[in-house]
Amino acid sequence: MNIKGGCYCGAIRYEFEGDVTATFQCHCRECQYFTGGHASAAYVLPQDKFTFTKGSPARFCRSDLQEPIERLFCADCGTQLVAISPKRPSSFILKVGTTDDPENWTPQFALFTCDKQPYQTLPDSVPSFEKRPPPPSN
Ligand SMILES: [Zn+2]
Ligand SMILES: [Zn+2]
Repeated sequence: MNIKGGCYCGAIRYEFEGDVTATFQCHCRECQYFTGGHASAAYVLPQDKFTFTKGSPARFCRSDLQEPIERLFCADCGTQLVAISPKRPSSFILKVGTTDDPENWTPQFALFTCDKQPYQTLPDSVPSFEKRPPPPSN
């Protein structure tokens, strides 16, 4: 799959070419800060198939957390592009809203519904999990 995108102001552009690992929507409390209140829509991708083709993002990690998520964002316009989970250090969690064709995305599952707000909707006929989905059994 080929995915192109960038931040709101255009200072940062990226391209991905390869197989997407997963797609999900995340209802966790942290994501609500970054989306404005709804679930975050994301692709999980291998970092080595992803290139920043213009600009380079600023990085932020909370220092008060044991295993913080690292967040990559445009220092000019503030758009968050990518998150890196300590559980998947070689993957990028790419924000679908920053892709050029966000209509191409569909979720495979929903997670962290423990934090779901009453006004957030779950997609029809996809699994949803209170926290993370169980690890694959292979
Ligand atoms: Zn920007
Ligand atoms: Zn989340």
